[in-house]
Amino acid sequence: MPYENKLICDNLSVNDEGHLLFAGLDTTLLAKEYGTPVYLMDEDKIREKCRIYKNAISKNLGSEGRAIYASKAASFKRMYTIMKEEGMYCDVVSCGEIYTAHKAGFPLEKAFFHSNNKTDNDIKYALRMGVGYFVVDNKEELLSLNKAAGKKGIKQKILLRLTPGIDTHTFEAVDTGKVDSKFGFAIETGAAEKITEKALVSKNVELIGFHCHVGSQLFDSDVYIRSAKIMFSYMTYIREKYGYIARMLDLGGGYGVRYLENDPVIDIAENIEAVANYLKKLSKENNYPMPSVSFEPGRSIVADAGLTLYTVGMVKKIPGFINYVSVDGGMADNVRYAMYEAPYTVLPANRMNERGDMRSTVVGRCCESGDIIQPGVLLPSGIKRGDIIAVCTTGAYNYSMASNYNRIPRPPVVMIKDKKPYVAVKGETLDDLIALDE
Ligand SMILES: *Cc1c(COP(=O)(O)O)cnc(C)c1O
Repeated sequence: MPYENKLICDNLSVNDEGHLLFAGLDTTLLAKEYGTPVYLMDEDKIREKCRIYKNAISKNLGSEGRAIYASKAASFKRMYTIMKEEGMYCDVVSCGEIYTAHKAGFPLEKAFFHSNNKTDNDIKYALRMGVGYFVVDNKEELLSLNKAAGKKGIKQKILLRLTPGIDTHTFEAVDTGKVDSKFGFAIETGAAEKITEKALVSKNVELIGFHCHVGSQLFDSDVYIRSAKIMFSYMTYIREKYGYIARMLDLGGGYGVRYLENDPVIDIAENIEAVANYLKKLSKENNYPMPSVSFEPGRSIVADAGLTLYTVGMVKKIPGFINYVSVDGGMADNVRYAMYEAPYTVLPANRMNERGDMRSTVVGRCCESGDIIQPGVLLPSGIKRGDIIAVCTTGAYNYSMASNYNRIPRPPVVMIKDKKPYVAVKGETLDDLIALDE
């Protein structure tokens, strides 16, 4: 089978007709039923990933350990319902995410509120909604939160977001743990200590512990190990100087997924066990009581639970130069190649038995030369208008980053559970596009 090695996730297969199956269903039939573009999401896969995290964390870090879904990866009501049912915590980063979670019945005391610029309104709203934890990112936020919590007569639980000064080797845009990051307080510069001191004397907040998030699309635990070491040495220093002992250590998200066949398969459970063992060692060496440890996976929960289907429009062959295959979506539903040249595996969903003998640039329909889904894709040379193209691993940061550029309605999200598809988010209509226009 020509595309054998491109079936990068175990929810992909091919039937006798040469059609791509996703979560056990024929993608060409799904394209017919729901139209294209369409985001497909494999609910069973999402739940499987949640359980891998939850089980590994409780096994290695006890019942105090937390698996927190970073909901910015894919945020809509159904996702929060699944997270609630799976016993996950959630990261939220805006009033919009808080509201969506709330409307889905997600218990907000299990929410962690992130963002490097929470406005006074965001802070008031989150307090009113009973968000469990604020991950405080800067001094302005601490002052505003302390004041707002005081007015409400409550003591808000907080973590402080620290930057341990680690350079990861992922994309610049998702590399967040360096000293010069826009996020958090650098340990190296003394900013972290200053804010810790301030938090400890702020009457209306309760400092629960510390947070760091240093990168994304990581294929081993090296970054976690290095940041854990720095965080522990910081915590030990703070204990000596201020007598404060952190009860929670949140190590952020970041484990990677397979976008291409040469990306490794990562064993999350094994990695968490290794990080947990290292944390226990640090705790012992420093004679520091083991804090409750949290992980905040986003991408690795939802990415390979997602697949986008498109229909081919024009096929343009410029001899000696390039072949374009254009699809009926593009940067409006998947901005990640345009934004930072993110790689994707692209498959000819109804021609999986044919050889990929035509190197093509798969482009979208937007009025931008940079509207590229993926260059260098090997597609069958017979590909033509009406064929179905599948882009794999689109469950994270696709729907959540979608826009209406060129007034293109956002596609629906169709979930698949036990081989039964259902609409989790309706596709926008033309009337939805003008609904707010005066
Ligand atoms: C984005 C983000 C995550 C999730 O990162 P992934 O790479 O998607 O796992 C976790 N924590 C914070 C603070 C984030 O900003």
